[in-house]
Amino acid sequence: MARYTGPVCKLCRREGEKLFLKGSRCLSPKCAVERRNYPPGQHGKETSFRRNRSSDYSLQLREKQKARRIYHVLERQFRRYFSDALRRPGMTGANLLSILESRLDNAVYRLGFAESRAQARQLVQHGHFNVNGRRTNVPSFIVKPNDVVEVRDGSRKRPYFKALRDFAGEVAPPEWLSRDLNTMSGSVVRLPERTDVEMNINEQLIVEYYSR
Ligand code: SF4
Repeated sequence: MARYTGPVCKLCRREGEKLFLKGSRCLSPKCAVERRNYPPGQHGKETSFRRNRSSDYSLQLREKQKARRIYHVLERQFRRYFSDALRRPGMTGANLLSILESRLDNAVYRLGFAESRAQARQLVQHGHFNVNGRRTNVPSFIVKPNDVVEVRDGSRKRPYFKALRDFAGEVAPPEWLSRDLNTMSGSVVRLPERTDVEMNINEQLIVEYYSR
């Protein structure tokens, strides 16, 4: 399964804002956006001064790239999500965000079982989670209402998951998910809505990008 393996802080600097790709480091003074708030590369500092003159296309492209990077989705799959969103009734942009939020790796992250979406993706790939009682190691698996996501029995005894209870206790799950820390499980109450998305994404610009 293809994925971006380069330096992730560079992605935040390219977008000019925190995308929270690295867990606790993102909240510390070590965050690269705090220390070097200009685009990466040799001419990064000069570029930052030209930002205000962005074209419509550039704004749309950057918003699409930002969403892709937040959810760790490559272009082909993102485009497929957009096609799915178009087919669903309602607002295409909100549908797209709902699909992205419904990914299994995102659900694991939002339940507080991982510090970042990247970590959640790795935990899922390593087979630490069941969905409805079945081992599921596909991060792009789309969860549906009434699905139950749980840490597998064998994995619960691992030091990572033993230590996780304290961290997870500090994370409040969104309204579309409910969590039981005793059983290290969560269930999907309803489909995620636009208001459930915690990141700053202008979905209208993404719709405009794909509607050119
Ligand atoms: Fe982005 Fe986190 Fe790196 Fe800061 S520490 S630049 S928020 S990935």
